Amino acid sequence: MKAMMLTGIRQMEMGDIPEPDLINPTDVKIRMTAVGICGSDIHYYTQGQIGSQKVQYPFCVGHEGAGVVIEVGKSVNRVRPGDLIAIDPAMPCGECDQCLAGRHHTCRKLRFLGCPGQAEGCLMEYIVMPEKCCFPLTGSLTADHGSISEPLAIGVYAVRKSGGVRNMNIGIFGYGPIGMSVMLAAKAQSVHSISVTDIIDERLSIAKKEGSVLNCNPLKEDIVEKIRQVEPLGLDLAFECCGKQEAFDQAIELLKPGGRLVVVGIPEFDRWSMNVEVTRRREISLQFIRRQVNCVEDTIEMMKNGSVRIDNMITHRFPFERTGEAFDLVADYRDGVMKAMIDF
Ligand SMILES: [Zn+2]
Ligand SMILES: [Zn+2]
Repeated sequence: MKAMMLTGIRQMEMGDIPEPDLINPTDVKIRMTAVGICGSDIHYYTQGQIGSQKVQYPFCVGHEGAGVVIEVGKSVNRVRPGDLIAIDPAMPCGECDQCLAGRHHTCRKLRFLGCPGQAEGCLMEYIVMPEKCCFPLTGSLTADHGSISEPLAIGVYAVRKSGGVRNMNIGIFGYGPIGMSVMLAAKAQSVHSISVTDIIDERLSIAKKEGSVLNCNPLKEDIVEKIRQVEPLGLDLAFECCGKQEAFDQAIELLKPGGRLVVVGIPEFDRWSMNVEVTRRREISLQFIRRQVNCVEDTIEMMKNGSVRIDNMITHRFPFERTGEAFDLVADYRDGVMKAMIDF
């Protein structure tokens, strides 16, 4: 079968590898239908690593997948051949202290699709996953909903970990697919107002369509000043969604006393720094986010019942053979790209 393999920095090739077989009675074999390209895939493509996680070439990335079940193990009962499903890329061990505490996302022996040293990704024709990772897409839900459920679940989780956004004035610093996912999840929870910042104007116009009260570009204006004009008392909550020190600083600067900063972005550097005076005097709380846990089902339900609409998320589509072009487009932030989708 065909698999899209990373072969070096900014290099990828279509390879030919054996089709995977069912091994455990709980395994499900899936024919991939759609895979979304994630910022983390791009980190591996352009840097060959995220922090200490380094790619050994050749390696297949991709973890935002949807597909059709083609074969199931003896004891599988939550999906059947022919079902269209969303795939949760996280395969926790189920036995360690973290799993037993319900923190499957920080499992000590976690295997995550497309994560170096853990598991190959899903930019290939067929994959095999445990049935726990398979979520049927029913009614009007499509493969796009399935694949978007992965980043969207991170937004749902970040909002959950923020302590709740009802009636709050929030800021989203960095409006890529994760920033947008935070916004969609916050809107579904009756947030009061959302200010958005990003350095790409096309992304800011998507934020506007989604109903933000203020959109500003830090390359063109003093965003702290601008957000202060509409939120003179400061923000209740800020979400850092781009992994940039400047965004982190602006977010803290804009929080009101008792406010909370939720850090979702993945930086390319090793250490955050922060203003001691401001964080201490205003008693700012910090919450870091590691992907998500227990949010996939709710996320799918929110798309199904219409409380979240993903219509403005996917801006580009490429056939599987042209995955490399899609990666270059996303890596260079060209053409106002939000989410690029690979179709099989
Ligand atoms: Zn992702
Ligand atoms: Zn575990």
